[in-house]
Amino acid sequence: TEDQFKKVISHAKEYGYIFQSSEIYDGLSAVYDYAQNGVELKKNIRDYWWKAMVQMHENIVGIDAAILMHPTTWKASGHVDAFNDPLIDNKDSKKRYRADVLVEDYCAKIETKIEKEVKKAAKRFGDTFNKEEFLTTNGRVLGYQEKINTILSRLAKSLESEDLADVKTLIEELEIADPLSGSKNWTEVKQFNLMFGTKLGASADTAMDLYLRPETAQGIFVNFLNVQKTGRMKIPFGIAQTGKAFRNEIVARQFIFRMREFEQMEMQFFVKPGTQKEWYEQWKETRLKWHLSLGMGADKYRFHDHEKLAHYADAASDIEFKFPFGFKELEGIHSRTDFDLKAHEEHSGKKLQYFDHEENKSYVPYVVETSIGLDRMFLSVLATSLEEETLENNTTRTVLKLPAVLAPFKAAVLPLVKKDGLPEVARKIVEELKWDFNVFYDEKDAVGKRYRRQDAAGTPFCITVDHDTLENQTVTIRHRDTMEQQRVAIDDLRAIIDKAVNV
Ligand code: ATP
Repeated sequence: TEDQFKKVISHAKEYGYIFQSSEIYDGLSAVYDYAQNGVELKKNIRDYWWKAMVQMHENIVGIDAAILMHPTTWKASGHVDAFNDPLIDNKDSKKRYRADVLVEDYCAKIETKIEKEVKKAAKRFGDTFNKEEFLTTNGRVLGYQEKINTILSRLAKSLESEDLADVKTLIEELEIADPLSGSKNWTEVKQFNLMFGTKLGASADTAMDLYLRPETAQGIFVNFLNVQKTGRMKIPFGIAQTGKAFRNEIVARQFIFRMREFEQMEMQFFVKPGTQKEWYEQWKETRLKWHLSLGMGADKYRFHDHEKLAHYADAASDIEFKFPFGFKELEGIHSRTDFDLKAHEEHSGKKLQYFDHEENKSYVPYVVETSIGLDRMFLSVLATSLEEETLENNTTRTVLKLPAVLAPFKAAVLPLVKKDGLPEVARKIVEELKWDFNVFYDEKDAVGKRYRRQDAAGTPFCITVDHDTLENQTVTIRHRDTMEQQRVAIDDLRAIIDKAVNV
């Protein structure tokens, strides 16, 4: 819900996960900075992905291509001509909207009306109210629902056929139906290219127009043959990459869900033509398993298979995640055919073919890609982990139940009191553990308060050094999620943490 989402955003700031970019200058819209804890969580997600995709697959290798690429790259990929969103301006308010999103927003308003009807009826009928039955039998609600369905299917058709005038008509029709908004003064709908332009070179007449890459994939395609030859890779094989991408998004909202500068984690898998469907199915399954391995709940994920396909694809599916604002795309799995490699062959005049020794012939491979936004993944983890628990004594506890493998700090070491030699012993434990884990030392405030701080920051373990430690070399280890405490030997700490962190 919206409230829950607001809490996530303020928690992210309060606990050093995410700050607005250039905050002292009132920020830059849809651009964010990762703070001291955020940078660790982000790195851990990236590493978790890299390990699963590269380290665990002997036929997948990584690269790190430059953000700036030869401008013809983007002509070949289709981005110069087709990487557009429909845009509409309001002449009165001087506000700019993504036309398709505006239509969806109006539909969401109608949806709110449905919810109101449900609430009203639930109140009226009390215990006998059955929501399912109400939604499928109430005339008014059905009318609203039908309206949403027709509008959205008309929107999809108009976008597909690039009938931008019809998108405008839809907006106008919706306005009339929406008594709140009144009549607005709209411009025509225009296509708006999302790529950020920049220049290379100092002198005005020789400078070259470049783009900041809008996706990392093209850096892999143009390097396909270099990697294949120098790595002596045999098909099927993959190339993985993580790195920044830039899109001048028209609607920038929902925190780090849609940013103008973001990071992608992509893997392009090169296969023999004709085998792409099998690989596509396999990568869908493999990627879902990766998500499930984090233990955030199977009910949080679903596939959304695309009916409308991009110009380069012969199959595409999203892994959607249940964000606080509903199920939304987290990762895309696309069967991209030989579109990109063929286009680069055409535009560069260079062959990008693989010689298959078994078949004794050359061909342009087909590509199945998996593409996930690191920041979006970060948001999914953060939003799902944040919980407000009511404890037995009716107090509440804020706890960030991050998967231990992703947590910025794996343990906090806390001397019970700041005297009697306890800080020295605690420091020694930190010195030993820090070779293997990110550990935190804290001696300020009462220990209960320190526990709560670590709960809210997401640290899976607190290790407390007390007077008994001096006698018998044992400490208390407290588990974040259950608040259970165990007495363990200092010598066993590394193994206990390791077991929880390395799943
Ligand atoms: P959307 O439909 O949400 O705009 P897309 O279909 O354009 O996304 P892709 O081009 O397939 O996205 O990019 C792959 C992944 O990159 C997405 O699944 C998403 O996780 C991430 N991503 C794309 N655009 C953004 C953005 N503006 N901010 C953050 N992450 C993004």
